[in-house]
Amino acid sequence: MEILNKKKDLKQFFSLLTKADDRILMLDYDGTLAPFNPDRNKAYPYSKAAGIVNRILLDNRCRVIIISGRTIDDLLKLIKFEPMPEIWGCHGYEKQLPDGSRFTETVSDVNKDTIRCYEEALRFAGLDKYCEKKSLGIAVHWRGCSMDMINQIKTQVNQIASKIKNHSVHVSDFDGGKEIRIKDIDKGSAVNKIMSTATVGSVPAYLGDDLTDEDAFRQMGDIGLKVLVRDKPRLTLADIRLVPPDELVWFLGKWRELCL
Ligand SMILES: [Mg+2]
Repeated sequence: MEILNKKKDLKQFFSLLTKADDRILMLDYDGTLAPFNPDRNKAYPYSKAAGIVNRILLDNRCRVIIISGRTIDDLLKLIKFEPMPEIWGCHGYEKQLPDGSRFTETVSDVNKDTIRCYEEALRFAGLDKYCEKKSLGIAVHWRGCSMDMINQIKTQVNQIASKIKNHSVHVSDFDGGKEIRIKDIDKGSAVNKIMSTATVGSVPAYLGDDLTDEDAFRQMGDIGLKVLVRDKPRLTLADIRLVPPDELVWFLGKWRELCL
């Protein structure tokens, strides 16, 4: 484990977690709970980590929330928790509660039309096979491509973006591609909504690996614990860095033990 924020007292965090009535464990999926797989449909979670998360869910001593860029339907093909956690998909556009009820954010027709414009332009540019179409947004993946191909995809996506004039829809970077998204819907706004329902004195932690998780870290500020799950260091707002899967398994085990 690497301590990134010297001001964060980990012992104090664990002590607060033990005493708290309201604990919130927020987990990104790809790169955090699951290793990357060239075939994204086979990115199953680390078995030991998933096992502990399932035990935490069974203990029912804290709120467990998976927050992913994937759609909820996509995630449900990869995770088999019993009981199910709360899931926020498409960076918080869609939400499924443990009882299976679903909600989506309200998005204007203009913004939906803009996403459709991107979809058509990406298809016209021959990038269809790199695209993951979501219920709201499109991720263009280049994991496994040559450097030349990556540069070509980047150039084409940037050219398309320069022609589409809607500042509410933007192109953001993630580890392994670019994503066309609605500006105000990101993991930071998801964390904001989750924390607005938390009680005073709640103890949250957010675990993530990617650039999109930095929005969540930024939103958390000094509250709780921000955990970068990544084998290599990078510039981040996180408090600590855990190398998966072993240190992730240690952290989840510690979380469970302190919540019992
Ligand atoms: Mg991730």
